[in-house]
This record gives sequence, structure tokens and C-alpha cells, in this order.
Amino acid sequence: MKYLSTRGNPERKRFCEILLEGLAPDGGLYLPESYPQVSDATLGQWRTVYHTQGYAALAFEILSLYIDDIPAADLRAICDKTYTAEVFGTGEIVPLRHLEDGLWLEALSNGPTLAFKDMAMQLLGNLFEYELARRGEELNILGATSGDTGSAAEYAMRGKKGVRVFMTSPHGRMSAFQQAQMFSLMDANIYNIAVKGVFDDCQDMVKAVSNDLEFKRQYRIGTVNSINWARLLAQVVYYFAGYIQATETNSQKVSFTVPSGNFGNVCAGHVARMMGLPVDQLVVATNENDVLDEFFRTGVYRVRLSADTHETSSPSMDISKASNFERFVFDLLGRDGARTADLFGAQLAKAGRFDLSGDAAFVHCAERYGFISGKSTHADRLATIRDTWTRHGVMIDTHTADGVKVALENRKPGVPMLVLETALPIKFAETIVEALGREPDRPAKFVGIEALPKRVQVMDADVAAIKALIAAECQTL
Ligand SMILES: *Cc1c(COP(=O)(O)O)cnc(C)c1O
Repeated sequence: MKYLSTRGNPERKRFCEILLEGLAPDGGLYLPESYPQVSDATLGQWRTVYHTQGYAALAFEILSLYIDDIPAADLRAICDKTYTAEVFGTGEIVPLRHLEDGLWLEALSNGPTLAFKDMAMQLLGNLFEYELARRGEELNILGATSGDTGSAAEYAMRGKKGVRVFMTSPHGRMSAFQQAQMFSLMDANIYNIAVKGVFDDCQDMVKAVSNDLEFKRQYRIGTVNSINWARLLAQVVYYFAGYIQATETNSQKVSFTVPSGNFGNVCAGHVARMMGLPVDQLVVATNENDVLDEFFRTGVYRVRLSADTHETSSPSMDISKASNFERFVFDLLGRDGARTADLFGAQLAKAGRFDLSGDAAFVHCAERYGFISGKSTHADRLATIRDTWTRHGVMIDTHTADGVKVALENRKPGVPMLVLETALPIKFAETIVEALGREPDRPAKFVGIEALPKRVQVMDADVAAIKALIAAECQTL
């Protein structure tokens, strides 16, 4: 299996070459040259594999179609080590929970940080450790977070050989629970840096360091953001696992509703569907930051300014542009790299938008690719959290509530609708209290974490200071 860039660069790469990279050199995103096709017989075998050997074995079957530069026995060991009941709380890893006729939740949030990002990041941690050891290299991951991504990265990389994580976050702006989750990690290779500023200041520091190519090379600076292909690939597995749990035979179809921000999660659903998974619809649910809903309704993709990006009660979906969306548009346009480069390069830079409304490809978007969309607001979230609690006794988080709201509007008789649960309510306690007048339940392992000792250094938004820290730590370890 070879990988290409969505912007048409003729170069082809193998999986382990792109594993530690971000964007392709031409600014595009990596995708496989073609999607392996899963026959009815193979899907039937995978059904048996999942039921008899479990999620890790299913993950191995799917990943091995895309990864041919890690020996099979090693890849299997990596999957087995990643997807355990110990790390993900249940033997099924992604159990379904029935809500009502035709509506299910697929639980993706029982990993170490209680959000779906663990599903991919835990695998990435083990892949990174494996590949760095094989090359005899080290990597310094530098990131900026306002919550979920940073903690998922830290819990995936803690204690891993060859990897250090330098994670900046806006000082005093994350919830007490999120701060406790990250700052209580005592692992020597995890560095929490609270920056006196806002999230954009953190991101600017990361960009400034990455733009210093000499520094970047010398100190082996890398990232783990959501455009990483390995993260996306890991997510493909739970679409298959959800389908297998919701159906008895391959003649049945299901639909998925996905709370979306950067389009990483639902893009994995698109890949699963392209492989032949019998998916009827992929329903994209956004919050007030409705860049994606606007596109699927109108064909216009319009990037928002920071000032027009709303701070909402489903904050992990507060995006101004959807960084993985280019992957889908590349497929939509018949994999035309030159056109994709023009839309996401020239046109977005010039006008901040592009318009596919008159394009035949867009007109067939729903029918050919199954995509439809919907939007949810703060008031919808409160109502949905309340309704799901009162009618079903199930407490859902704010992001999942956006999904359930949009799923209910798009359910079809006879087609099970699976809503991906992307976080647990404890992470967004304030809104739960607003909706239900009570605190969410807290999993036992998180009781009292706010009182644990914290390991964090406070820093001005100063690029020289963070470079000095990285340089010093690389010398002492
Ligand atoms: C990251 C995140 C999302 C959005 O996922 P994308 O892959 O960016 O679309 C939704 N919900 C939660 C809880 C998240 O952490």
C-alpha cells in the first residue's frame, strides 16, 4: 500500500514514512492510493473475528490492509497491547447502548481521558514507540491544547521510550477536571506548559517553533494533530465494530451520526464506507460552528475568522475550519489533485471560501457518499441531555448531545442509527448541572483527581523560552 497527497504531488510513500509526518510536502493530506475493498465473505469473517477474538483482532485485520511495512506479528502485538479491557474499561472496547427504537449510542469514550480521541491516540503511542526504536530515533512532540487532544496525547505517550511531549495550554482556562487530568501526570517525558495567554497564543508559539526549520530538525520536533493518517486509520475500526454489533447479517445497512469538528472522526466513516461497509448515511452533526453543515446544505465551504468562531458548551467542536475536510473533497472531485490544490490552496487563501454548489459532484454528495448534516445549539444540547436522561436514564455529554439531536432528525425506519459517543459527561460537568441540576457521575478512577499534586510550569507566551526548555531537556535526558 502506497500513500499519495491530496494536492497531486506524484511522490508515493509507505505507511511508516508518513506515520511521523504531518502535512505532505505540497501542503496536502495523505491518503491511500486506493481503498481496499472488503467483500461480503471478508466482512463475514471479520464478524466472527470480532465476536470470537475481540476488537484488537479486528483492528489487526483492518490495519494490515493499510500497513505493509510492519511485520504482521509485530502489528498484531501492537493492536493487542493497545485495545485491552484494562485501558478501555470493557472487553467490547466500543459497546453499543440501546436508547430507543432504531437508535443506539456507540461508546468510544471509556479510554484513559474519557474522550474518543483515545481510540486513535493510544494506538499512535504504541506505533511511535515501535517505529522510533526501529530507527534508533527520538521525537519531541510539541502541541497546543484547550482540552481533549492534549490530554489524549499525553496519556498515549506517557512513559514511551524515545518520545517527549511538550504540551502548551492557556493558563487557568481549562476546566479543573481537565487541568487535573493533564497536570497530575508525573512521567518524566511529559511536560505541561501553562502559557499566560489564550489558546491562540499557544498555537502561535507552536507554529513559530515549527517554522524554525533548523530548530525543528535539530530537536526532532513533531506533532500528533488530527490530520495524521494513522489516527484516522485507527478510527476506521470502530465503524466496522459498530456495524457488526448492530447487525446480524451483511445484508443490513446502518447509519452513523458523528459529532464533528475537524472532520477527522466522520472522515474515518467515509473511508469505512468506501471500503464497502454497508453504511446508508453518514450524518455530520455540528454545533453553532457550522462550517460543515453549511457545506453539506449549500455546497459552499466558508472558513470562519477567529472572531466569528463561537465558544460553545461543546468546545471540542469549536472550529473555524475543518482540517481533515480536504480528504473528502479530494474523493468527491474524483481524486483530482490539481483541483483540490486550487480549492484548498489558492481559493481559500484568496477568498476564504469555495463554492461547489454548481458542481455535479456536489449534487450527488448525499446519494454517492451518504453524507447529510445538521446543526445543534446550546439550547438543543440542554434539551437533548434532559430528554435522554428523563426518558432513558442515560447521561450524555454535550458533544454526544449534538449528535443525538441531529440523529433524531434524520432517522429512517428500518435502518439502525448509531450515534458516536465522543466524550463522557464528567468532562463537561457545568453544562450537565445546567441541564439536569445535578453533577454527572464520576468514574471511580477519577475521584479526587483535582487534589493530586500537579506537574506544570507557567510560562509567558515567549517562543525563546519554550525553545530553551526543549533544548535543555534534550540535553539532560
Ligand atoms: C475532537 C472531538 C470532537 C470532534 O472530532 P473531529 O474528529 O474533530 O470531527 C467531537 N467531540 C469530542 C468530545 C472531541 O474531543
